[in-house]
Amino acid sequence: MSGYLFGPVPSRRLGRSLGVDLVPFKTCSFDCIYCQLGQTTCKTVERKEWVPIDSVLQELEQKLDSRPDYITLSGSGEPTLFKPIDKLIDGIRALTDVPIAVLTNGSLLGDEDVRAELCGADLVIPSLDAGNEAAFQSVNRPHEGVSFSDMLAGLRTFRRHYFGAYWLEVFLLQGYTTSEAELADIRRCVDLIQPDRVQLNTVTRPPTESDAVAVPFSRLEEIAATFTTPAEVIAEFHSDHALEAGKVSREEVLELLRRRPCSIDDIVAGLGRHRNEVLKSVEHLAVERLVEGAQVGDKLYYRATQ
Ligand code: SF4
Repeated sequence: MSGYLFGPVPSRRLGRSLGVDLVPFKTCSFDCIYCQLGQTTCKTVERKEWVPIDSVLQELEQKLDSRPDYITLSGSGEPTLFKPIDKLIDGIRALTDVPIAVLTNGSLLGDEDVRAELCGADLVIPSLDAGNEAAFQSVNRPHEGVSFSDMLAGLRTFRRHYFGAYWLEVFLLQGYTTSEAELADIRRCVDLIQPDRVQLNTVTRPPTESDAVAVPFSRLEEIAATFTTPAEVIAEFHSDHALEAGKVSREEVLELLRRRPCSIDDIVAGLGRHRNEVLKSVEHLAVERLVEGAQVGDKLYYRATQ
């Protein structure tokens, strides 16, 4: 059994990141309007062993000679829905001393068990995309079991019990969360949470909803300067950080798109690659203007430009 790992993929924040997918595709507590993976097909807050822990660890053991900088629990849904995530972290520790990062939407940090299970990670990066309930509902479209106030309380409590690195990602959308009032609410929440740093992101890949629009890089830099916590822009607008690891699938993707236009799903099926690797490659190729997207009905297709 395989298919739970992807990469290593080049990541601006994490170097060469070996991703671990802990839930089936689009199993998530949110249905964000900017999600690059399309609409959430399984919106849930149920925590369980969604994929077999032994199979994940077996596959990881075989991939360790790829010498990643981080093993990153992330993937195509919300990783903290996987239970027991602490046993998985212990299992990874028994195999390697590569640091372990968790990328989470933060929705379940109100749950004491989730906070306790994440304490063994080296780096936890939750998201906070809104500073109040109304914007949270508009942008993240959460499961009815997730409340903004519980999530915020969880993000604050976790800070007090967790001694690893704690970075907060804030994904901003033009028109949704860029007014002075919305930004003031977000800053207030960040001051309460007290992460080690804030990382500003925005849309750089095709989003689920077409009105999820990117904030220009220069505006993100202005916004970053207004936080009291150290803040930086991490949106990947440029491809100059593309690393060797992405090249094989990048060439394969380009070759396929020279032959026929494909959706992301077509490329995933055609090449047998992990969706996240495909998305990264298409993003880099689009930045270099080697491929372009065209909407046909409700599907986005990509084709080679030369
Ligand atoms: S939390 Fe992540 S995976 Fe879930 S819908 Fe939002 S962007 Fe997509």
